[in-house]
This record gives sequence, structure tokens and C-alpha cells, in this order.
Amino acid sequence: MTSEQTFVIVGAGLAGAKAAETLRAEGFDGRVVIVGAERERPYERPPLSKEYLRGEVERDTIFVHGEGFYADQDIELHLGRTAASLDTDIGQVGLDDGTRLRYDRLLIATGAEPRRLSIPGEALDGVVYLRSVADAEALRERLDRGGSMVVVGGGWIGAEVAASARQRGLDVTLIDPHAFPLERVLGTEVGAIYRDIHVDHGVRMLLGTGVQAFEGSAAVERVRTIDGRVLDCDVVVVGVGVEPRTALALQGRVYVADGIVVDEGLRTSVPGVFAAGDVATAHHPFYSRPIRVEHWANALRQGPIAARNMLGLGETFDRLPYFYSDQYDVGMEYTGFARTWDRVVFRGDPGRREFIAFWLANGRVLAGMNVGVWDVTDAIETLIRSRATVDDRRLADPDVPLEDLVHATGASAA
Ligand SMILES: Cc1cc2nc3c(=O)[nH]c(=O)nc-3n(C[C@H](O)[C@H](O)[C@H](O)COP(=O)(O)OP(=O)(O)OC[C@H]3O[C@@H](n4cnc5c(N)ncnc54)[C@H](O)[C@@H]3O)c2cc1C
Repeated sequence: MTSEQTFVIVGAGLAGAKAAETLRAEGFDGRVVIVGAERERPYERPPLSKEYLRGEVERDTIFVHGEGFYADQDIELHLGRTAASLDTDIGQVGLDDGTRLRYDRLLIATGAEPRRLSIPGEALDGVVYLRSVADAEALRERLDRGGSMVVVGGGWIGAEVAASARQRGLDVTLIDPHAFPLERVLGTEVGAIYRDIHVDHGVRMLLGTGVQAFEGSAAVERVRTIDGRVLDCDVVVVGVGVEPRTALALQGRVYVADGIVVDEGLRTSVPGVFAAGDVATAHHPFYSRPIRVEHWANALRQGPIAARNMLGLGETFDRLPYFYSDQYDVGMEYTGFARTWDRVVFRGDPGRREFIAFWLANGRVLAGMNVGVWDVTDAIETLIRSRATVDDRRLADPDVPLEDLVHATGASAA
């Protein structure tokens, strides 16, 4: 495919890197440019709250591609550069160093950034957020010093950082307004299991309360909770969710509603402009609704689909959401999408932390999470996609293969 065209990718994260790789793999031989605000070439973020934060793996292991990959593939990297302006009428991106990049196709893969807490003391030294490798390296130095940490927010980042800090021997308190950590996604039954895992490892869980202020003379020394407790600490990690980085898209008059709104082929409202990864709110054919997923596998899978559609291949993104988390020696994978459900069914032994939890509504499985049980995500995905009405007892019975449930009681393709 001989081309004079220029394809620009803004965001040197996982989605952007996989898109660039795919453009070349599909034979595109025009100009491919990636613009990335961070100094590093694209890297994976999951290790930043786990093994890389704990200092167990070298820096080389976190990158999406080897050092020579981009030069070998003739992919131009503009690192440490922010795309500051976008004119979709003339097809031009402006960088913060004054460079203007004309594009024929544009992929916006700008990801997400931590939501800030606007409470007194938020700017004190030692109140930190975790998104980038630089954040992780700064936090690791604090773990090296030991002492006590308060984690604000019992979502995935907060729970993983609490686990890593305990593994490094810090005294850890986790604060969350819900009754259980991870409750927003997992609900109360499974959230309770995660609470117990953290308590077993010595985390002090302050649930059902929030943070009123951070206090200290120059650096943070104390956290004051809304129910009047005062916690001494050396460092605070805030993990209260992320916001999609949509400023560039808005500037280019690309339609945004939460994230950048894209169709099932990851096309935005502006012809020739695509979006993928954490920033994209994509119409999902299986759910018949828009979904924005803030997880690794979504960036990994959407980047290539966006690239193929930049080449006009007409592909659809319809993978079910999937994510994983590792806390202490407890690994899990979650497949599907459930915001409301009428019950949770367990297969296996939650007490031994080897089980699958299923979230159901009207007898159908919406999502499944395997904890300490492996090689079942394909079967869970097939079961969800079948929309079969399942029998709770058979679903709970480890002797009944999940595959058998797909047809057991009459799958409906509705
Ligand atoms: C600490 C941590 C742990 C995680 N662990 C897990 C996990 O265990 N499992 C899981 O499923 N997911 C995990 N995730 C989530 C996962 O890493 C994200 O879903 C994934 O990184 C999204 O990739 P992305 O390419 O869409 O965006 P990002 O990774 O956010 O990359 C976007 C890039 O674009 C750059 N950028 C933004 N705006 C501009 C601009 N205007 N100009 C130039 N560059 C710009 C940003 O600097 C950034 O480098 C974790 C995330 C974090 C932070």
C-alpha cells in the first residue's frame, strides 16, 4: 500500500502504540506520527501499582515495544510534547513546541487522568496521585522510607497500592465512603471478600467515611476524616477515579459526552478522526449502548481496531469488557459489564479465595469474575453472550462445565 498520507496518533499510551503497530502490520507505508506528553515511549500502566511500584521488576519490562521498534517501523515519536490545538476543518494538530502536523487521519488516544480531591491540604507535599511511571517512581521512594500511608479511595488503584504498601511493610489505612472496597463495581458480597483480604493482610479499613482535610506544616502529617478521626501519616495516596482527557477533542469540535463519543468502529463525530482506549465512549453492539472502559485490555484491543478503520477496513469493536487485578497473592479477572443486578452466585470457595462470582439479572449472567481460578474467561464470555437463562444451582456447581450452561435451558439470541 503506497501512500502519501499522514496518520497522526495523539497519546503515546497502550492504545496509541498498538494502533501504530497495527498500521504498519496492515501494510500502511505512509507517515505515522505519535505525539506523547510523557518523556517515555509507550508503556503499560498495570505494573505501576504492583510489581514495578514494589521494585520487583526493572524499568525495561514495562514498555509496550522494545527501544528500537519505532525507528525500525519508521514510526515518528514526538515525546515530551503535548498536542495543544486541533483544527479538524483543515486537519491539523498543533504541538506545544509550535510544530504543526497536518493529518489525513487522526487517532485521539489521550487516556484519562486522576480525579483530584479539592479539600484543604490537597497541595501538601506527600499527597500523591498515581498515573504515570514518574508518579510510580516517586511513590516507590516513599515506600522505601517506610512509615505509614493513608490510601484515599478503595477502587482498583487504591486497593492495589494498599496491597503493595503492605507488602513493603508500611502501616496502611484505607478510607472509602462505601461500606466495602470495590463496592461500586463488585457490589457488597464480593466487596466484603476484598475487605477481608485486606484486613487479613493488616490494612486498617475505615469504611463508610470520607476525608475532610489533609494537615501538616509543609508536608502532610495527618488526615482528618469527616467523622472526626485524625490519622497520623507520612504519605497519602489518592485514588478516587479518573476523568477522560477530552480537552483536545473539544477544541476540535469533536462530540464528547463523558468520553469522546465513537461508533462501534471507533469513529468520532468528525470524519477522519477516531478515538480509542480510556478516553473513548464507544457504542457497544452487544449492549446496544455507549460504554467507556478504563482498563488495559480495552486499550490493547481498541487500538488495533481504530487503526484498521483508519485504513478503511470497516471493523467493529464488540469485545466484552475485561480487566484483571492482583492484590497480595490474590489474582482475579472480570469479564462482562454489570451496573445493576438482582443476585450474585458463587461457584467454588470464596473462603479459600478460589471461586467464580457471577452477577445475574432475570436469570442471565451479566458478568463473571474468576479469583484464583484460571482459563475460564472464554467460557464466561460465551455464557454472557449466549444470554442463556441459567439455573442457579447448576451455575454454582463446579462439576457442571460452564459450556453446558450455554444451551442448558434454552439460549435466546435476543
Ligand atoms: C497505576 C495503574 C494501574 C493499573 N492497573 C490495571 C490493571 O491491573 N488492570 C487493568 O485492566 N487496567 C489497569 N489500569 C488501567 C490501564 O492502564 C488503562 O486502562 C490504560 O493505560 C489505558 O490506555 P490508553 O492508551 O487509553 O491511555 P493512557 O495509558 O492514559 O495513555 C494516554 C497517553 O496520552 C498522553 N496524552 C494525553 N493528552 C495528550 C496530549 N494532548 N498530547 C500528547 N499526549 C497526550 C498521556 O500523557 C498518556 O501518556 C491501571 C492504570 C493505572 C494508572
